Amino acid sequence: MRLVLLGPPGAGKGTQAAILSEKLGVPHISTGDLFRANIGEGTPLGLEAKSYIDAGKLVPTDVTARMVESRLAEADAREGFLLDGFPRTVEQAELLAGMLEKSGHELDGVVQFKVAEDVVVERMLARGRADDNEETIRTRLGVYRDETAPLIDHYADVIIPIEAEGSVEEINARTMAALEK
Ligand code: ADP
Repeated sequence: MRLVLLGPPGAGKGTQAAILSEKLGVPHISTGDLFRANIGEGTPLGLEAKSYIDAGKLVPTDVTARMVESRLAEADAREGFLLDGFPRTVEQAELLAGMLEKSGHELDGVVQFKVAEDVVVERMLARGRADDNEETIRTRLGVYRDETAPLIDHYADVIIPIEAEGSVEEINARTMAALEK
């Protein structure tokens, strides 16, 4: 199963992805996690990404896409993946389409986690990650509205909308039910 997870920052994509990954037997590939691992290890990629992430801005697409392409080429992603945090722009979606075409694959669906903005702000302030201060959160929500939300139309043919307010278990159950259709 090849899925993209879409939704505003703080929508709970990472939490849902961890559960889905186990149930579906495909790896959870999070660009945010990959960047944070690189920052933690002090790699050149991490050094480049850090200033953008701390400011709540998007890391340049060429850097991000190269990182995703090499991750998707790893053996565990051959039969499927849950892509979390990529694509985040229409340009990135087109790059992903090119990567999939090269390997002769298609996306099975794009799961859209729908959450009200005041709820995501609350969740992000509660989790307290380094880039979760009020100013950065505002920037990221703006980036989501302007750059990422257009993907909902871009993927209209394969979108799977999920109401993502409620308990973790409820949202997982809704997602599993929607994927079975
Ligand atoms: P959230 O979903 O809360 O925004 P992520 O962990 O997905 O958190 O992303 C954290 C940061 O990593 C983003 O604000 C952005 O700076 C960077 N990032 C993640 N994915 C991408 C991407 N596809 N393109 C550019 N930057 C990205």
